[in-house]
Amino acid sequence: MTPGKEPTAPRSTLVVTAHAGDFVWRAGGAIALAASRGESVTVACLTFGERGESAKAWREGKSLDEIKDMRRGEAERAAATLGAEVVFFDAGDYPLTATPELTDRLVALCRAVQPDVVLTHPLDDPYNGDHPAAARMALDARVLAQAVGYPAEGEIIGAPPVFLFEPHQPEMCGFRPEVLLDITEVWETKRKAMECLAAQQHLWEYYTDLGRRRGVQLKRNAGPNLGLPHTTWAEAYMRPYPQVAVELA
Ligand SMILES: [Zn+2]
Repeated sequence: MTPGKEPTAPRSTLVVTAHAGDFVWRAGGAIALAASRGESVTVACLTFGERGESAKAWREGKSLDEIKDMRRGEAERAAATLGAEVVFFDAGDYPLTATPELTDRLVALCRAVQPDVVLTHPLDDPYNGDHPAAARMALDARVLAQAVGYPAEGEIIGAPPVFLFEPHQPEMCGFRPEVLLDITEVWETKRKAMECLAAQQHLWEYYTDLGRRRGVQLKRNAGPNLGLPHTTWAEAYMRPYPQVAVELA
């Protein structure tokens, strides 16, 4: 239980992403799973991915404002499909620059939503500097929001575990699947949310294939006794901090 949280409040997940589509491809299953259990999920979407992840719209001759509006609409529909609330920071992408002001806004959001879990990008990505910038600010904000002396509104937070979701080219980002999350029961919801992202239609099948492949690996790691269905779907995560346990399980 986090210090500033009402005892009856539902579990809360905070997802910090650089661009409008990131939370869907990489953590849509975790989000849908939490929401399906009545938990609250807030997505901090730092930019719309208007410059770096909207190539199709630029080729069609759309203006910057039109692209931002379109990506906002897509992200809102995807978040609603998953059962999450999305907060847009409109910080500008390519490049997204880490600033004290943006980190401070994330601290305020941390204190407002009192997360039990934080999801964000890995800290390395040689293909896309916006992703590590978002992750760095997310991790900093999580620590600052715990400090009584940090001058932000709201109650301090606890030390919610952090999970780093799978980047587009995992081997190049030092990513190892340390956690395989079974998202089989919400797979169709994740697929519907992906289909809200028309600007990145080329990724629908890519992330469907990845979900299926991680699902096969989940079954292999779970062993034969869990009674898992023939086809399972999964998402992979890393943990930047040690897992806290009273029993090894
Ligand atoms: Zn991105």
